[in-house]
Amino acid sequence: MSFDTLGLSPTIIANLQRQNYQKPTPIQEQAIPAVLSGQDVMAAAQTGTGKTAGFTLPILERLAKGERVKSNHIRALILTPTRELAAQVGDSVQTYSEGLSLSSAVVFGGVKINPQMMRLRKGVDILVATPGRLLDLHQQNAVKFSQVEVLVLDEADRMLDMGFIRDINKILDLLPKKRQNLLFSATFSEDIKALAKKLVRNPVEISVNPANATAVTVEQWVYPTDKNKKPKLLSYLIGHHNWQQVLIFCKTKHGANRLTRHLEADGISALAIHGNKSQGARTKALAQFKEGKIRALVATDIAARGLDIDQLPQVVNFELPHVAEDYVHRIGRTGRAGSTGQAISLVCADEFKLLVAIERLSQKLIPRQEIEGFEASNPVPKSHDVRPFKAKKPKKPKTPKVEHQDGQRSGEVAQGHKPPAKKRPTRSDNPYAKNTSNRRRGKPTGGNRGKPIGKSLNK
Ligand code: AMP
Repeated sequence: MSFDTLGLSPTIIANLQRQNYQKPTPIQEQAIPAVLSGQDVMAAAQTGTGKTAGFTLPILERLAKGERVKSNHIRALILTPTRELAAQVGDSVQTYSEGLSLSSAVVFGGVKINPQMMRLRKGVDILVATPGRLLDLHQQNAVKFSQVEVLVLDEADRMLDMGFIRDINKILDLLPKKRQNLLFSATFSEDIKALAKKLVRNPVEISVNPANATAVTVEQWVYPTDKNKKPKLLSYLIGHHNWQQVLIFCKTKHGANRLTRHLEADGISALAIHGNKSQGARTKALAQFKEGKIRALVATDIAARGLDIDQLPQVVNFELPHVAEDYVHRIGRTGRAGSTGQAISLVCADEFKLLVAIERLSQKLIPRQEIEGFEASNPVPKSHDVRPFKAKKPKKPKTPKVEHQDGQRSGEVAQGHKPPAKKRPTRSDNPYAKNTSNRRRGKPTGGNRGKPIGKSLNK
């Protein structure tokens, strides 16, 4: 399929050609016609699938035909969980809208509000925003919503993870009732489904990745080692393979800072990106990483969410994430839009349970490699079972077993010919019980997170 057949105007197609996009990605093939038709859309798609163009291109097409935006008004609102993602989506909107007479702006917190207020004065067709700053601007009458035609919730799962549900609900209450709604999320939890119920009407459902399946173009390896050997092993891997652009995940901000210092001491240029860094420092670190000025970017999960770094070759999990689904998000940064990437995890014995959770979530064993001199002296056991977790069931409280005169016991009488009483499910005894309670064998669910939207839609 080519972009020509999707109903986009020649100006937009020319912009895509300039970006060297040869053909639409699967999500674009499905989302573009659906959005153009004016329907609501609910899409399960991770960063890296081309989802931004999937919603932006048809929005541009629709807005180009509509009426002009009034001062302080907006016509399309794209909500994102993080500043970085907002900036990236804003850049994409600008790139794709070149030559169209449509305006766009990006607003997020952590920077001065006044320039953003000035920018909104004339009105903008497409506003990309993080929820908190958008509400601040609305409170100050800098932005008005009565002209909003389209709402996009991008990375809705992360917005909920980050506690934005109240802000989102407030924003929804302020928007005109008649509008098109597009909901994009990497995973579909019960919470997201509840949000979707309020948000979308008869949506076109799109799913380009089986929920929670790790991207097929990513080669994955586990390096079993000891905790104290990890920093040196990482330096060795970077040096030995001559990796020039590697994104490294740590669990904590302090851990990320410590590791950055270690890499620098080993002569590997590195910067950390996490919540304690100012917006300026984060943007600068990301820019330097993208331009190849530094080799390693050490990030925490929240800071890294949605980072768009083209064809990132290497992702390293210096520590495994506590929530197995975050592994899928992390390695989604590599092997993007058709290119192949490598995701490597340094795993110590303490992390065995986390590894099992990841392998069971993605339903495959990740191959292991050992490097001489860095082997785990405290061995990481091998997992053999990649079936999804099954919720453990509690024992039914025993009915007092009183002997009856006829020789039957009361419990037996009560149950009669019924099959044995079903036990109620409870949290499983694994540390990720929160995310596993809904799993059933054979269904690639992520517990409460990550259920496919609809079976028929999984490709
Ligand atoms: P996204 O999932 O929206 O973050 O996009 C991931 C990356 O894929 C971005 O760097 C886009 O520039 C790139 N991309 C999007 N659509 C296409 C396409 N049709 N062909 C090639 N690259 C694309």
